[in-house]
Amino acid sequence: SLNVQNLWKQFGTKQILNGVDFEVKPHDIHAIVGVSGSGKSTILRIIAGLESADSGDVKWNHRSLIHIPAHKRRVTMLSQTALLFPHLTVGENVTLVTRERSRKQAEHWLRVVQLGDRYDAEIHELSGGEQQRVSLARALAAEPELLLLDEPFTNLDPKLKLDLQRFIRDLVKELNLTAVLVTHDREEAMLMADQVTLIDEGKVTRTGTVAELYDTAPGFGDFVMLDGKL
Ligand code: ATP
Ligand code: MG
Repeated sequence: SLNVQNLWKQFGTKQILNGVDFEVKPHDIHAIVGVSGSGKSTILRIIAGLESADSGDVKWNHRSLIHIPAHKRRVTMLSQTALLFPHLTVGENVTLVTRERSRKQAEHWLRVVQLGDRYDAEIHELSGGEQQRVSLARALAAEPELLLLDEPFTNLDPKLKLDLQRFIRDLVKELNLTAVLVTHDREEAMLMADQVTLIDEGKVTRTGTVAELYDTAPGFGDFVMLDGKL
């Protein structure tokens, strides 16, 4: 499990996180939902080790990650924009992070994201959705235990978005990963998450299953349901 415990963070004079606590159960997709500026990305960056907290702890399977450098954590992050190297091919972008820098492993992960035939393609030859799938392949190629998703669907058109949301959800389950999904989109949280934590101004306001929040959190279910889920 992932235990985020009493995280505090200030940027300059601005208090961004005010004692954030939540627990992510093994193999769950746990959504963190809040408006822009509420501190969601900051939480992910602290979990990934890209940012340090002023105080508090992050535990993975009961071990503190705080003093473990980012590259030694079994954590990878997928963000809003595909952060790929434009001067490398699709395959080289993925090979780079495999444990043995191996083309074979990279091809495996490209096949997983259904881009098995694009190893030698240039990044600019791919659509936005395909580039995001390359980013996903690269995130998976690092063989993480914990996958952090920071609004990874924002720049995609609605159809692609829905496809990729379902695809990633299925993949997390199939690979037995644990995932934290940051989003301001409650519909996305309902579609993908097992558990949801609502955050407001750097503080957790509610946490529970999608069904629990649907019943009891004001406004949480105020949109059309997808797929008859729930
Ligand atoms: P969004 O939905 O827009 O991505 P968010 O919930 O992810 O928002 P954060 O990126 O965590 O929000 O930022 C929370 C606040 O902290 C914002 O006001 C932001 O300007 C500020 N902030 C984040 N990173 C830094 C930084 N490195 N230096 C200064 N301020 C920062
Ligand atoms: Mg953010």
